[in-house]
Amino acid sequence: MKKVIIVRYAEIWLKGKNRGFFEHALETNLRRAIRGFTCELVKQSGRYLVQNFYEDESEYIIEKLQKVFGVHSISVALETASDMDSLFEASKILARPSGTFKVESHRGDKKYPMTSVEISKELGARLLEYAKGALRVDVHTPEFVVRVDIREHGVALVFADFIDAVGGMPVGTAGKGLLLLSGGIDSPVAGYMMAKRGMKIDGLHFHSYPYTSMQAKEKVEELANLLSEYTCGINLYTISVTHIQEAIHEHCKPELMITLLRRFMYRIAERHAKKIGAQCLITGESLGQVASQTIEGMTSSNSVMETLPVLRPLVGFDKSEIIERSIKMGTYETSILPYEDCCTVFLPDFPAIRPQLKEILEEESKLDVEGLIAQSLAYVEKIKI
Ligand code: ATP
Ligand code: MG
Repeated sequence: MKKVIIVRYAEIWLKGKNRGFFEHALETNLRRAIRGFTCELVKQSGRYLVQNFYEDESEYIIEKLQKVFGVHSISVALETASDMDSLFEASKILARPSGTFKVESHRGDKKYPMTSVEISKELGARLLEYAKGALRVDVHTPEFVVRVDIREHGVALVFADFIDAVGGMPVGTAGKGLLLLSGGIDSPVAGYMMAKRGMKIDGLHFHSYPYTSMQAKEKVEELANLLSEYTCGINLYTISVTHIQEAIHEHCKPELMITLLRRFMYRIAERHAKKIGAQCLITGESLGQVASQTIEGMTSSNSVMETLPVLRPLVGFDKSEIIERSIKMGTYETSILPYEDCCTVFLPDFPAIRPQLKEILEEESKLDVEGLIAQSLAYVEKIKI
C-alpha cells in the first residue's frame, strides 16, 4: 500500500477536438509545478496521479498542485490491491475512530466481481464490526466518507477527502496577454483572473526612477514572482516613463497628468505587446474606483489603442472583493507595502474625473508624443521569473 495524490480536472473542456491540446497544456503545467520534488506524474483516464514522492513533502506538492489552473480537486489516496481484504486494510487507516460515516464506491473496472453497492455494503459492515460500536453509518450527512475507486489491473484507490484547487483552464490554452502590473492590489488579481481562463501572462511595469525607488521595483518583482506560481512563470518587463512625466509636468495642465500618462502607458504597452506576441493588454481597473477609472477615463485610454483590446477583468468588482481574492492568492501582504507608484509622482491635487477628449488632444499636442514613446521603448528591461 502506498500514498498517491489524485489530481482531477473538469471533463467539460475535454469534449471534441480540443481534448489533446487541453491535456497537453495541463500536463506541461503540472510537471512544471512539481519539478522541484522527487516524484512521478502519470496520466490515467480523466486525471493524473502523483506517486513515488517523499511523504513529508506531500503537503508542499499539494500546495503547488492547488495553484495549477485546470485542476479542480485533489485527494491523497492509498493505492492498494483491489481485493476486499486490502480495501478493508486501507479503509481502516482512513476511518476516524468514532462518529458517523458512509462508504462510497466507484468501479472503473467493470469486470470487478462485485457491484459498487456491494463493495460499499461489505466495507461498511466490516468497519462497523471493527469499530465495536464507535462508528455509525449515516448515508445522508456522514461525518466522514471512505471512498473506494476500483481501477483496472487489480488496483484500487481509497481516500477520504477532496481538496479544492483553483479550477479554471490550463494556462497556455487561451492566448497571451500583457498585464500592466503596478505595485498595487488590483493588477496582480487581474492577471490571476485572466490566467484562470487559460491565458499566458507577461507583465509590464512602468517606473519613474529615480522618483520611484528601487524598493518599489523590487516590490513589483516580488508580486510577479507570487503571480508566477499561477501563471506558469512570467516575464516581467520594466520601462521608464520618467521623461514623459517630466514633459507633461512642464507643458500640460496638471489635472490631466494621470489621463495623459495613462495614454502614454497604453501606447507603449501596445507596441511592446505586439513585439512579444501578446494579443491584448490587461489592467486592474475597476469602474469608478478612482478618478481615472470612470468610463470617460477608460474611453480616453482606449482611444489610443491601435488594434489590441484592453481586458479589464475586475471592472465589475468591488474593492473588497478584489482584496479578498488578493489575500487568497497570497499577494495582498506584498501589495500593501508602502512604496510609491509612478502614478503617485507629480500627482495633481485635483485629477480630472471626466476628461474630455478635445482637451486631452489639445494638451497632448504640446508634446512630442512619438519621440517620448521611442525614448521609453529604447530601453526595456526583461526580468525572467
Ligand atoms: P493597482 O492596485 O493595480 O495599482 P489602482 O487601483 O492603484 O490599481 P491605478 O493606479 O489607477 O489603480 O491603476 C489602474 C491600472 O493601471 C492598474 O491596475 C494597472 O493595470 C495599471 N497601472 C497603473 N500603474 C502602473 C504602472 N506603474 N505600471 C504598469 N501598470 C500600471
Ligand atoms: Mg496603482
